[in-house]
This record gives sequence, C-alpha cells and structure tokens, in this order.
Amino acid sequence: MTNTTTTRENRTNLARLTDIPVIDGHVHFNHLARMDDIMAIMEAGPVLRTNLVCTPNPGSINHNPALIAFKARFPDRAYISGALDYGPVLADPEHMSDILAAQVYALKAIGFDGLKMTEGKPTKRKWLPFPLDAPGYTGLWAALEELGMPVVLHAGDPEAYWDAERCPSRARARGWYYGDGTFPLKEELHAEVEHVLARHPRLKVTLAHFGFLSADLERASRLLDAHPNLCFDLAPGSEMYNNFTRDYDHSRDFFLHHQDRLIHATDTTTGGIGRDGDRGVERALDRVWVVRTFLETDGVFAPPEGLRRWLEPDLRGWRGIALSREVLTRIYRTNLERIYGPAPAPLDREAALVLVRQMAVALDAQAGGMMADNHARQALTCISGVFLGEG
Ligand SMILES: [Zn+2]
Repeated sequence: MTNTTTTRENRTNLARLTDIPVIDGHVHFNHLARMDDIMAIMEAGPVLRTNLVCTPNPGSINHNPALIAFKARFPDRAYISGALDYGPVLADPEHMSDILAAQVYALKAIGFDGLKMTEGKPTKRKWLPFPLDAPGYTGLWAALEELGMPVVLHAGDPEAYWDAERCPSRARARGWYYGDGTFPLKEELHAEVEHVLARHPRLKVTLAHFGFLSADLERASRLLDAHPNLCFDLAPGSEMYNNFTRDYDHSRDFFLHHQDRLIHATDTTTGGIGRDGDRGVERALDRVWVVRTFLETDGVFAPPEGLRRWLEPDLRGWRGIALSREVLTRIYRTNLERIYGPAPAPLDREAALVLVRQMAVALDAQAGGMMADNHARQALTCISGVFLGEG
C-alpha cells in the first residue's frame, strides 16, 4: 500500500478535505449514552447536521424515544427519521394498512422529519413477512406521500450475500447469508420497490446504500430517470467503493449526471461505536473519511486499518472521483435540504412525551413487569430534564 496517494493517519486529516458544510443523511442512534460521541463525530467532521434514524426491532420496539431525546437537546443539529411500531400490526394484521398510516401521521405531528425503514432487508423480512408492495403497506405509502414526509429505505443487500462462495465471513457471522432458499431474492426486493415507486410517484424515497445497485449503473440510472422523487444515499455498502473503482469512468459520469439525486451518508451506528470500545469514535471517523475522500480526491487511497476488510482482493485501493465544489455542495447538503427542509422540524413537546411514555409502558408489558433496562423510560428522564431546564 506504499504507493497510494492518500492515507488516514489521524483525524486531523479530515480538516484537509473541503470546508463545505456537510449533512450526514443516515446515522443510527439507538443508545442515549452515545449522544456525546455523536456530537464529537459531528464536531470533528465537521458535520453541520445529521439525519438520525432507527429501525423496528422485536425486543426494543424501536428507538424513537432516543431520537426525540437527541432532538430535544440539540434541536438544530438533527433531523430525525423514526421507525414504525409493529406490535399492533402483528396483533391485528388485518388492519395493518390503517395502523401504519396512523403511526406516520402521529410521528409527523411529534416533529419527526422522516421515516427510516429496513423492512426490505432480507433478515427483517423473516420477522415481518410483508412484501413492500403488499396491501398492508398501502396506507403507509399514501400517508408519506400525502404529508411529503421522506423515507430512507433499505431494500436488498449486496449481491454477494446470496452467493455461497462470495458471501464475506463477516456477513455470514451476522446471519446475512441469504442463499439457503429461506430468504427473498435480491431481484424480488428490487421489484417490490419499483412497484411502490410506480404507484406512488410523489413519494420521497431515498434508497439507502445506493439501492444496492452499484454493480449495475445502467439500471441505477434508469431507475432514477423513471422516478424524479427518488434519491440514493451513499452510505457504505463497502462493495460500492470496489464497484465504483472497477468501473471508474462510468461511475464518475454517473455522479455528475445524477448529482442532484445523491445524498451523503455514513451509516454510522451507536451500536458499532460501542463495539469498538475506546476506539469507537475514531473508527466512526474512519468511515466519514472514506466516504469524503472518495468524493473529494483524485487518485487511489487505502482504507484505514479498521476498514481494510472492505477492500476486495483484486484492488490495491479505491480511486476517488474528485467532484467539484458545486457538485459536492449538492451531495453534502442541498439535496437533503430540498427533501427534508432547510432545518429540522420543531418538536411538539406534549405529543413527544405521550409517545415516549406509551412506549415505556409497552416495553414493561412486553417484559411482563417493570423492565430493568427500559430505554423509553431512560429517554423520558433525559427529555424531561431538558424541558425542565428550559422552563
Ligand atoms: Zn443504516
């Protein structure tokens, strides 16, 4: 790796990248205790604002309370994209469409800026066996469309995860090998998304991780051309940088041609920061550095040590596409602002507290008693403290 032009020695390297204000379109915030870590990453970036997201989960319902707590404390620094609560749906699947539509209206009234869905990830599909184009989701898509409320949607995964020979061991270890016949095919997931887009032309969808289409830029391009309200976010998807480097000229043309439809994102997760222990913030900044170095610089660069596993063996590094300041401004900030508004929506305090209290009660009920580690009750304490402090 000695002949690469760029390496990330330490976080001060970030300052050598451009000084354009950056918004991060997709950061998972599940852990209240990581609020200061997220702020540290934003200061070092520097990142002006972050779109904080969470996802539905069987044990924890979702982490909407943590998102509310972050916004209560830093109202100008975070857009928040909440998750749905599938408890009522699984209890009463016949009314799924109305239940989810009502949740969307309730989140909007609280001050959520958008929705995040991982319901198109193959592992989630086993828990929530509803195709994205199923009748049960009709009310949801219609409500989002009606409200102009954007959604970041994870649908699919890298193709290698369906291939016994190519599936990386790190994906397998997390249960992300999908070739055993019990998961939907990648193509089925893409088809569901296309049906939804065709039926809901005003729906503001951002497909996370470049829609998992970085190996087929022709198709990615056709999809964006066919759906003017569709965007892709650039959150790794480590396979993206391998694919872009292998098909360099074509990729750079794609970024220039679709510069108003691409959104900077890192997919930083508070879970990942926790797993990396003392180096959590530093590792998260490595990820920030990779995304920005790819967009801003020319020449081949090596992944930082902690992300070396992302580089596929046929490549000696990734090649940056050196976008102009004007293009970077769109991808870093103005595309997201066009979709989410120039600043985050204010919280309706009463409505926010009602939702968080209800979830605290629901988590206790699910646990069959007072839950020891009730994340909604912890968020409630945090939010009440902020509101009290402000009088
Ligand atoms: Zn994500």
